[in-house]
Amino acid sequence: MKLSSVLGCITGTPAKQEVSGTCASKQDAEVADNERLPKAIKDVMPAPRPHWVGDGFFVHPVFSQLAFTKHVSPFLMFDYAAPRNFEPTTSRLGVGKHPHRGFETVTIAFQGEVEHGDSVGNHGVIGPGDVQWMTAGRGIVHEEYHSENLARQGGTFEFCQLWVNLPKKHKMTAPRYQPILKQDIPQVPLISEDIAMDYGYVRIIAGSYLGATGPAKTFSAVNLWDILLTTKGWPAEIQLPAGHTTLIFVRRGSLKVGAKGLVGPQGMVRLDMAGSLARLEAQEDNTQLLLLGGEPIDEPIAARGPFVMNTQDELVQANADYRSGRFGR
Ligand code: MN
Repeated sequence: MKLSSVLGCITGTPAKQEVSGTCASKQDAEVADNERLPKAIKDVMPAPRPHWVGDGFFVHPVFSQLAFTKHVSPFLMFDYAAPRNFEPTTSRLGVGKHPHRGFETVTIAFQGEVEHGDSVGNHGVIGPGDVQWMTAGRGIVHEEYHSENLARQGGTFEFCQLWVNLPKKHKMTAPRYQPILKQDIPQVPLISEDIAMDYGYVRIIAGSYLGATGPAKTFSAVNLWDILLTTKGWPAEIQLPAGHTTLIFVRRGSLKVGAKGLVGPQGMVRLDMAGSLARLEAQEDNTQLLLLGGEPIDEPIAARGPFVMNTQDELVQANADYRSGRFGR
């Protein structure tokens, strides 16, 4: 597997536009200017080396240097498994029963199928383009495997899993499982007004874009968009909320963000919270992105293994509750 490459990056903030007018209108003008500003690049992160999770998931821990920090809030971590061929097998490939508390796991199958079963009684298989949005809340025990079908026949597998934090007041919510099928995810075409032609799409798994709203129910404001740019050199100007975290992952191809921020395959770019515009230009045809956006959760993070709480005491409690069998009821 070729490791990702970072072609270069820009840092700093773009020149602020001149604010005209005085006194009464100045503050409004500054706000309006901020609204129109492109989001500056904070980091360009090449994907770290992949490692095995169980025996089924060979993943790049994509923004591991910032995982579980406020810089990526409300997101905690993100694993991506690049396309990989698996031989037919009679064994179950993946990760056996394990607990989670205090956050959500979001799994997207790009190629092949993922199977999930949990202690609340949910069971499901998702295929290409489908999503599982699991809320661990106060506690769940689940297992994650390649589907029986994929294991038996063999084939290409590509997937990702994103961990989304829960606000303190929702950490002990009841566990929930949302299977989200491809057909239920709205797809907004990117249209060039010059020649009235599509040059890609934004699939809205969570949040909203140009009036289309994704099916995922979330506990804080989250945008999770699967983006295709079909044509090299045709930029898409995407409006994003000011004040939100924005992370853009290059799943395939390569990307130019703004004037010269280049992100190679399987790299991640983190944008500034200020500003509200991202100009995304494919450097190769059929560049595919995943945009993670969300309102930061301004609360302490205490994370250990499969538990993500606000304090060390809550981690100790989570461990005790799991050991005494109080999860998933
Ligand atoms: Mn898990």
